[in-house]
Amino acid sequence: MADSHESNTGGQPEIASAALFGLCPKCGARTLFAGLASFAPRCRACGLDYAQFNVGDGPAAFLTLIVGAVIAILAIWVQLSFEPPFWVHALLWIPLSTALVIGGLRIAKAWLLGAEYRRRAGEGRLKED
Ligand SMILES: [Zn+2]
Repeated sequence: MADSHESNTGGQPEIASAALFGLCPKCGARTLFAGLASFAPRCRACGLDYAQFNVGDGPAAFLTLIVGAVIAILAIWVQLSFEPPFWVHALLWIPLSTALVIGGLRIAKAWLLGAEYRRRAGEGRLKED
């Protein structure tokens, strides 16, 4: 009962690892991303059309808010603890926030696409159209 989720997904990757590594939700090949945070048009291994999943940039705004809050807290902490010159802040937070937004966006978009893929796969068994 506890491990049934593993067997009923067939060759599909776990949604968490698919999101982390940019795997195709259908076949598990590492084909989801063409750029840093942009999807490939389709899976090069199984031909799954990624363009049909309109994930969009909805997660981007949400993610930027979270990253902004995390960076602000870290920046205040560093300022109070070490009182560094201003350029240290620029050197630290600009690359870090860029990396966090791009990395987070990849994971969030891959996660949404994987969830959407599974939802449709589930619906397809119930709906006629
Ligand atoms: Zn595939």
